[in-house]
This record gives sequence, structure tokens and C-alpha cells, in this order.
Amino acid sequence: MYAINHAATALLIKKNKPELPLWPLLIAVQLVEILWVIFNYLGIEHYTVLAGHLHLDFLPYSHSIFSGVLLAAMSYLIIAKGYGNRKLAIAFAIGVLSHIAIDLIFHEHDIRLSPFAYYPVWGLGIIKYPLVNFILELFYGIGCWWYFRGNKRLLAVIIIFNLADLPAMFASGDMLNPLQYYRFLLPTFILIQMLLTWYFVWRYAR
Ligand SMILES: [Zn+2]
Repeated sequence: MYAINHAATALLIKKNKPELPLWPLLIAVQLVEILWVIFNYLGIEHYTVLAGHLHLDFLPYSHSIFSGVLLAAMSYLIIAKGYGNRKLAIAFAIGVLSHIAIDLIFHEHDIRLSPFAYYPVWGLGIIKYPLVNFILELFYGIGCWWYFRGNKRLLAVIIIFNLADLPAMFASGDMLNPLQYYRFLLPTFILIQMLLTWYFVWRYAR
């Protein structure tokens, strides 16, 4: 799932716990992706471009069921015990888990049970059908906005960022070659999307 709709997930949590600040929730829903960006920069995880198609492929440390649960548990302990905020700790842990749960629906077969074994591995693979992917993500994002009862500007942010993802969703063929040769391109693209969607969702959800 693309950055804007992960960010929109934070709105669902915020609606249920309005007393919590939004910004930690926005970080929570993307914590797994932050690790993915770092691990790709370091060469610990990698994607491949094969026959004109992008495959996220090797992301067992950031995106596995085990690491998602571990990250959620660690976040819970740090926030609940370290900062004494049990309510935020629970909400944050749910945010972390939401990322893996949603990616399981959209990713190809690349989300492993454990970072230490190739199998079992899951992913419903909606990403392989760009139009279906786009429609589902757009409706999901708008659904989060509707549940949150956001303003029109927030709706515009969600729709515009979803539309901006269209070229990436449909990208194929030799156009993807630069991603293969310049390994920093994709993680940087994702990082910029994350930063922008954090800012705009945070700003217009207040
Ligand atoms: Zn992800």
C-alpha cells in the first residue's frame, strides 16, 4: 500500500482515541516502512526489476509477521513502561501492526512469517493489478477520511496523493531500469512520499 493510505489509517485510530496526538500515530503506521527505507539504503533488504516488473522481493526484516509483532511489542513496552502512557502504547502498537496487515493484502508473495526463513510467505498480490490496486486504495483512503469526518482539504490531500501514485502503479518495462541501477531511487521516492503525506495529513486533520 502507498504512503498516503497508510497515513490515512492513522485517522481511524485517532478517531477512536481523539485525546491522543496524531503525529505518533502517523509514525506508528509507517514504522515498518521507515525500516524498509533504512534497510534498502544499507543494502540489507533489496528489490528487483525482472522482465520490466518491479518486485519488492527481499524485505524479511522490515516486513514479516514476526518483525511486525516484535516491533509492536517493543513500541508498546517503551511507551507504556518508559513514558507511562498505556493508551498511546496500545494505539501505537495497533498502528505498527496495521502496516503489515494491510501490506499482506496488497503485496506479492513477499511477506514472510519470520525474517529467518523463506517460507511460509504470503501476499494477496493486488499490486499486480494496477487499476484494481488504485481503486481499492483510493476507496480505502476516502473511507478513512469519511470515518474520521475530515474536512474537504484533507479529502483533497488523500485524492491528490492517490492520483499521484498512478504513474508508479502502472510503471513497467524499460522505464524501471533506472531503479535497478540506482538503488537509492526507490527508497528515496518512498521516503519523500512518507514525509509529504505525514505533513499534509497532520496539517489538515487538525
Ligand atoms: Zn510496507
